[in-house]
Amino acid sequence: MSKARENLKTARRIVIKVGTSTLAHAESGKLNLYRIEHLIREIADLHNAGKEIIFVSSGAIAAGMNKLGIKIKPQTIPENQALAAIGQGVLMHIYEKFFAEYGQTIGQVLLTGNNATDEHARENSRNSLRAILDMGAIPVVNENDAVAVDEIKIGDNDNLSAIVAAMVGAEVLIILSDIDGLYTANPLVDKSARLIDEVPTIDAEIERIAGGAGTKLGTGGMFTKIQAAKFATSNGVTMLIINGALNGNLRRTLSGENIGTIFPKR
Ligand code: GLU
Repeated sequence: MSKARENLKTARRIVIKVGTSTLAHAESGKLNLYRIEHLIREIADLHNAGKEIIFVSSGAIAAGMNKLGIKIKPQTIPENQALAAIGQGVLMHIYEKFFAEYGQTIGQVLLTGNNATDEHARENSRNSLRAILDMGAIPVVNENDAVAVDEIKIGDNDNLSAIVAAMVGAEVLIILSDIDGLYTANPLVDKSARLIDEVPTIDAEIERIAGGAGTKLGTGGMFTKIQAAKFATSNGVTMLIINGALNGNLRRTLSGENIGTIFPKR
């Protein structure tokens, strides 16, 4: 077992990021309650085992679309802001229900780019997140899409989760994806593609193979995940990309099993 994987066993503060493609059914775009419930149960159990968890969740806009029966993502910013405002509440309602069933308390934190770039705002966000952790609760973080536009928007939750992980001094960031990890090529089109177990340095070759593509619901692809990995690893956070559709994957990853792709901290 590599040193970086060995270290996962004792990691205490962990950021877990879940994207829309994991939370929603690919065909209907509706929330995948089976998967959400299993994921929450696993996170609750990690918390019971003594880990501090920060949960970064996308899916606000998708949940808003669902609620209103909108099939195609609107083009205008105000419409997307409105959908995020409507959907964020829907998401929190579901998280509150599932986390409460497993005995956990959650606290919603909505951030914008300002919270990352402005030193004073960053300090305040850090204090808030740490206070929630100190109270034994699980922060549930998303971008404040209802008010964040253009210049103050981070834009994707891969980068947001890396910013949060660095902010709170987490040891590990786990990004749940709809794919097993980073491949040498797109496995959907290239049969010879193989999963990369460990990326010691993010070089030009890694950036090349990560170029492009996301799903119709989410905003992130491998490209933003590699950006996130660069930021995380250079801020002392080890990052992983693992498949979010497989029950037990989080627990197995944190017990050091060879799952997904690991980017050891620098
Ligand atoms: N913050 C957006 C949402 O909750 C998602 C951003 C992303 O997909 O990375 O809908």
